[in-house]
Amino acid sequence: MKLRTGLHHRVTDDRGNAYLYLTDSAAIHAVDALADRLAAAFLEPADPVTVLRELGEPEAEAALRDLIDLGIVRPDGETSPPRAALPPMPFPLATLVLNVTNKCNLSCTYCYEYGADKLTAANAPAGRAMMLPETAKQSIDFLIRSSGERSVLTITFFGGETLLNFQTIIAAVDYAEAEALRHQKRIHFSLTTNATLLTDEVIKFLVAHRFGITISIDGDEKEQDRHRRYKSGKGSFADIEPRIRTLIATNRRERGRPIGARVTLTHDAGSVLDTYRYLTDDLGFEEVGFAPVTAAPGRGYELSPGAYDRMLSEFATLTEDFVTAAIAGRAHGFANLNDLLRELHQGIQKAHPCGAGLGLLGVSTEGELALCHRFVESKSHAVGTVQKGVDESIRTAFLEQAHIDRKTDCKTCFARPLCAGGCYHEAHVRHGDARKANLHACDWIRGHVDQGLKAYARIMAHDPKFFARYESQ
Ligand code: SF4
Ligand code: SF4
Repeated sequence: MKLRTGLHHRVTDDRGNAYLYLTDSAAIHAVDALADRLAAAFLEPADPVTVLRELGEPEAEAALRDLIDLGIVRPDGETSPPRAALPPMPFPLATLVLNVTNKCNLSCTYCYEYGADKLTAANAPAGRAMMLPETAKQSIDFLIRSSGERSVLTITFFGGETLLNFQTIIAAVDYAEAEALRHQKRIHFSLTTNATLLTDEVIKFLVAHRFGITISIDGDEKEQDRHRRYKSGKGSFADIEPRIRTLIATNRRERGRPIGARVTLTHDAGSVLDTYRYLTDDLGFEEVGFAPVTAAPGRGYELSPGAYDRMLSEFATLTEDFVTAAIAGRAHGFANLNDLLRELHQGIQKAHPCGAGLGLLGVSTEGELALCHRFVESKSHAVGTVQKGVDESIRTAFLEQAHIDRKTDCKTCFARPLCAGGCYHEAHVRHGDARKANLHACDWIRGHVDQGLKAYARIMAHDPKFFARYESQ
């Protein structure tokens, strides 16, 4: 019987020690030189007797047995263990994203809400502009009764520009806190905003209720004002910069949760590194995450293959910074890498790319339920209403069809446990079907996972204790 090394990705640390990331188990194995040579010897199906004879090392047979026990080397042709089937449905909800408004006071050129990639059919009547407090309360009731045994829940406020409907946010928080107490659950709040409406009153409220706050910002004045402008064409930087400084200073004083920046990367974006440094060193953000813009093919701001390559090489520099900081025991705010290291350490094996439709749903201003916040008001992605509940047959059918095992193009990809085909919304915009894999971005995804694995190996070699922070999250 021939043997073959399972689908994996190999990286080395600073000392040349090898690590194998096994796709079927999502485990990272440190392997010694002999095991490393054996794994390489079975990259193509090979006869073990011949391989052992050619290696000529007395310990090789025991080392091969270990590799077989760990599932690293397997009988050729053995089918991969099936990935997790759908969990029992209805899956308990953990997070509800309330799109409290579908209006925005900015007119960012790349916005999927208002730009050419909006999901709502052009002739469909627009939903109510502002969610009523009553709908927010019905949403909270729905979340609590759909959460099963979960004791910690999250309500995320989103838009449009979320803070255009501050009154409903206040009412929702007030109601959620009372209901959480009554049902003996804890509810966390988070919010994404463009920062234009962060008045002192708003800041005080958000910090007092320990909101997790994400600011959509693209960098310094030049970066921000390239795409993030008012309808008049005026840039938004001058308005948001002092408000962000006040928010961060107040939050720090009150020991609030870390405040994050979310940067959208377009083909004409400046240096990722300069943007990171500006947002952390100058403005004071604790975390910065970068997301490639979602765009249908042919949009002016779409990332070209060259722009993806440039982004990856700048991510490599930020990764280097992160590893240096980690080894020195300092925190680093590169959120993409931090999230990836957490998933690698926890051995995450995704059957679906994210929680959308599973533990997370989006709610439109009128209380319609969607896969996530990006799909609200898209009739073809509606899964029920907060008043009547989830249509479980639609939800389950979608999750079955979007399962990684249905994405045949992903079968030979080592990054499958972490990517699982990528964002449904992006797949819908790029490929017209949320259930398809985002094959336009594979090199970038695999490149980023490769960087994460190398960072993992290097930090592990210097300070394994670093990873304790991911064990309780
Ligand atoms: S979309 Fe691409 S990178 Fe993601 S799992 Fe599929 S093949 Fe891999
Ligand atoms: S589908 Fe995309 S936008 Fe929606 S929750 Fe998943 S990753 Fe996020």
